[in-house]
Amino acid sequence: MDVAVCLFSSDLRVHDQPVLRAALRSARRVVPLFVVDRGVADAGFMAPNRAAFLAGSLAALDAGLRERGGRLVIRTGDVVAETRRLAAEAGAGEVHLAAGVSGYALRRERRLADGLAEDGRTLVVHDAVITAVPPGAVLPSGPGRDHFAVFTPYFRRWQAEGVRAVLAAPRSVPVPDAVRSGTLPSARDLCPDGTPSPALPEGGEPAGRRRFGNWQRSGLAGYQDGQDDLAGDATSRLSPYLHFGCLSPVEVVHKATGHGGAGAEAFVRQLAWRDFHHQVLAARHDAAHADYRARHDRWRYDEAEVTAWKEGRTGYPVVDAGMRQLLHEGWMHNRARMLVASFLTKTLYVDWRVGARHFLDLLVDGDVANNQLNWQWMAGTGTDTRPNRVLNPLVQARRFDPEGAYVRRWVPELAGVEGAAVHRPWLLTGPGRAAGDYPEPVVDLSEGLLRFKRARGQE
Ligand code: FAD
Repeated sequence: MDVAVCLFSSDLRVHDQPVLRAALRSARRVVPLFVVDRGVADAGFMAPNRAAFLAGSLAALDAGLRERGGRLVIRTGDVVAETRRLAAEAGAGEVHLAAGVSGYALRRERRLADGLAEDGRTLVVHDAVITAVPPGAVLPSGPGRDHFAVFTPYFRRWQAEGVRAVLAAPRSVPVPDAVRSGTLPSARDLCPDGTPSPALPEGGEPAGRRRFGNWQRSGLAGYQDGQDDLAGDATSRLSPYLHFGCLSPVEVVHKATGHGGAGAEAFVRQLAWRDFHHQVLAARHDAAHADYRARHDRWRYDEAEVTAWKEGRTGYPVVDAGMRQLLHEGWMHNRARMLVASFLTKTLYVDWRVGARHFLDLLVDGDVANNQLNWQWMAGTGTDTRPNRVLNPLVQARRFDPEGAYVRRWVPELAGVEGAAVHRPWLLTGPGRAAGDYPEPVVDLSEGLLRFKRARGQE
């Protein structure tokens, strides 16, 4: 074949890139294509922080392809119409694409396959690009069982299955001269409304590889001990690079496994959680918006409480620290994500969809599978086998921010309060009390717990 199209999606890299490698194997020349898909924005999946990261990632991908004699071709509009048009222009016989897991991705795949077939072309879809182990590759035994609903048995099978070998980056990427490149989009082009958070990470494959290299040298070994330490900030922060595919999950699993030790084992287990949520969503697309396990909740909604939660002004310092980290960095520590989600869905008893939407509006790693299913897990409507557990923010603070350093970093009103006293500002007297206008608690924790237990029939 003379020409094939490599349609990039959540796989913005040249290393361990099965889609690009397959396109290069089947054709003499390849069109590396990214379509700024208006459907993604219309579906509410685009937000300023991810737009900024994506713009950087596309520029980095273009640079990576140019180092290999190629370039990235950009089009804007409906992904199916633009891909068909470009394939026709370039005279491509095949379009190669990574398999997605969301309902949106699956519809896109179907529309592309049908449209290309009408034009006499073929869509080739590749597995193990976006996840380490593809959804459906490991299944529970029993008729009709199309996914694992519990993590531990999934993880055992995931480990036994293993991940495919890592592919080298191509040496050269010959692109047909006649194809117009188009213009790399800015963050504004991708998301005209809103302003990105002030402290976002740099997007792109080289930044991701640098971070992963540093992490292997100085973070991985201590991961097991430090992963829940809020102030220690001892997790990899690879999530946006994995979300946009600037890093290959297959390569990350191989390298971490090769490192060995308890830290690496704990880290690989977290990567398996990522695959776990993807295989749930692949089998149950509606879990992006509907309860995975209905608990017949009659959620509350109090505008003032929800606003206080979003702004980090609930009066519970560890909750507020997490929410303010999210506003500032477009990222939040996993332990903080868990406790702020429990606070919203259980203590305030607000619908998990309200919290998931706010997270998707801000998270630079915001991901339908990981976000919606973690929210459902925390709300007890998902795959948690103990759906009614409630994380008490004061207990969480004592365990995971014992000296109060995380709170002092993110809640400046309390920066002058020493030690663990920072977690209970309502007990402060004298100068500590006068230190700032930190709000009173929006809810009494035991009242919130009682309300939740009643609602779930636990009393
Ligand atoms: P590390 O601790 O270094 O872990 C390494 C990688 O493993 C992460 O980059 C991530 O890809 C994966 N991982 C770790 N924990 C989880 C988990 N619980 N579920 C799935 N994958 C995991 N993660 C997202 O990538 N996108 C989201 O939109 C998202 N929303 C979340 C919402 C809630 C309410 C909660 C509780 C968790 C959410 N997570 C999400 C999972 C997790 O918090 C982040 O992946 C993690 O904090 C990212 O930081 P890190 O890269 O330093 O993680």
